[in-house]
Amino acid sequence: MAASLLNGKEISQQILEDIKQQTLSLDPKPGLAVVLVGNDPASEIYVNNKEKACKKVGFYSEKIVLSEAASEDEIFAVIDRLNNDPRIHGILCQFPLPKHLRHLEDAIVERINPQKDVDGFKPNSPYTSCTPKGIMTLIEHTNIPLTGKHAVVMGRSLMVGKPVAQLLLDADATVTITHSKTVNLSQITKQADVIVAAIGKPEFLTKEMVKPGSIIIDVGINRTDHGLVGDVDFEQIKEIASFITPVPGGVGPMTIASLMQNVLIAYQASNSVSS
Ligand code: NAP
Repeated sequence: MAASLLNGKEISQQILEDIKQQTLSLDPKPGLAVVLVGNDPASEIYVNNKEKACKKVGFYSEKIVLSEAASEDEIFAVIDRLNNDPRIHGILCQFPLPKHLRHLEDAIVERINPQKDVDGFKPNSPYTSCTPKGIMTLIEHTNIPLTGKHAVVMGRSLMVGKPVAQLLLDADATVTITHSKTVNLSQITKQADVIVAAIGKPEFLTKEMVKPGSIIIDVGINRTDHGLVGDVDFEQIKEIASFITPVPGGVGPMTIASLMQNVLIAYQASNSVSS
């Protein structure tokens, strides 16, 4: 393997350990509430992992599970209660919601007190949203400055593609965003110094599409008959890239570590307002 592994599991453990040390002396503790509507198995895993991370770093945490039959009013009542609960510094509602409630997602984000919107989903949120933030932390660990580098983001979703493109731009990279209508995709990806693949297509990015020596960040989480795989053909591309993230153990754990960082920032901000 020529590439160095960007080990999100290890890096996230360091971040969590650091937060744990900072939390020891805090009283009351920072608090996170996670709202889960319905019983989608993947969402349950994500929510449980977030709860586990809270325990690990010593945060107060609350998990609120609502049935799939929950009404708009019930969901909003929970958000309102959490908005007013001084033990809670961060609130997140696990998306996607069950299909028949999906039209409420924007309104739920809107309902969360901006100071507690630790997912960073609101426009102009004070927090950097967690997956893009985790991606930038991984890239920082390469110690390669982004200034002037060509970064290609595959995918233009509101949760990943667009915000990560903005962060790369803020870091002075030259950024190209590609999507399902992009023509000659591999000509573009071949020019990239950094590729962030966030399309949700198993092992879509192949060795032929990548410039040797590039940094490859694989955001994809695809459940296949062969287990969990990313959007990148890891086995092939690790031979030519300079850095590459694995799936699992790359961006996923960094997303949770970034969430814990955001909760701590929310806690500090709330204390500086109230003191
Ligand atoms: P999404 O909302 O489904 O968006 C997918 C994007 O990929 C769209 O913009 C789509 O283009 C684009 N796309 C589709 N086919 C393409 C192609 N052939 N070439 C270039 N772009 C293409 O997905 P998402 O929410 O951003 O998530 C992407 C992946 O990341 C999923 O596997 C998801 O599970 C994973 N994810 C992981 C984490 C984590 O913490 N590790 C967090 C969030 C998401 P159009 O806009 O033209 O349709």
